[in-house]
Amino acid sequence: MNAYQDAHNHLQHAALDPHLAEILSTVRTLPVNWMVVNGTAESDWEKVADMAKELSFVIPSFGLHPWFLLERSKHWEEALCAYLTQTSCAVGEVGLDLWMQNSDLQLQKKILRTHLELAAEFQRPITIHCLRAWPELLELLPTVPIPNCGFLLHSYTGPARMIEKFLSFGSYFSFSGYFLSRGKEEKAQTFREIPYDRLLVETDAPDMPLPAERNQFPLPNAAGFECPNHPANIQAVVRGLAEILKTPEDEVLRRVGQNFYRLFESVIPEDREYRIQNPGPRTPNSELQTPNSGPRILNSEF
Ligand SMILES: [Zn+2]
Repeated sequence: MNAYQDAHNHLQHAALDPHLAEILSTVRTLPVNWMVVNGTAESDWEKVADMAKELSFVIPSFGLHPWFLLERSKHWEEALCAYLTQTSCAVGEVGLDLWMQNSDLQLQKKILRTHLELAAEFQRPITIHCLRAWPELLELLPTVPIPNCGFLLHSYTGPARMIEKFLSFGSYFSFSGYFLSRGKEEKAQTFREIPYDRLLVETDAPDMPLPAERNQFPLPNAAGFECPNHPANIQAVVRGLAEILKTPEDEVLRRVGQNFYRLFESVIPEDREYRIQNPGPRTPNSELQTPNSGPRILNSEF
């Protein structure tokens, strides 16, 4: 059986604290063999690092989210470098956000650039958040170093016409359950334009809740969240993506798993018991295959 990988969540978030024991036992039953837990500010980095020490399926990731830039200390870069030097961590969540109030684009670009420089220097995958700043991100990418493995545009809400351009810079794109909500059909359909070998899945828990009828693990309101998303909903996310791609669920799970290992290979510890998949090499022309173009190859391409 294929296992699940949650390419992006915030297991450290206070909204999940009261339910942590239940969450951990549920994700183990699926099983979720990896989750990339993204820090968002220096104040939560230590908790993320502790979780990675205690939980064998956690890949830690550290970054400054654009919503929390003003909280940063003078020493944030030094602190991030220390994690990069001492642990096998990814970089993120970082990004550009022109949806938030009082956004300072110049500051966001500067901080994102620094994160990208560090990710390239240490050759680690980096996860980028982008809201209403797609042209600005495209403008920045040719001017910054990018790690060889590429980067993740998480919960991609950009236009379909920009996918090709982001691909040329090494982008992967993750699908979250929020796109299964009413009114988000267009965003969901965009994922049909993304090549199979660049697709990932994520919960963004406790954010990006699924519509109620798909939420397999409803959690009570906590820490300002109306309905915190449960990381075990990754199963429902895969199911929803399979419906959109009109591809069998186990096939989608297998493919996103292979993509996960390709992107996050450098930060997956080899000695962890949950490492139960070992994908083969990437095929040379696989990126030409998109879910809605050409013949659908279900068993031989990967
Ligand atoms: Zn996030």
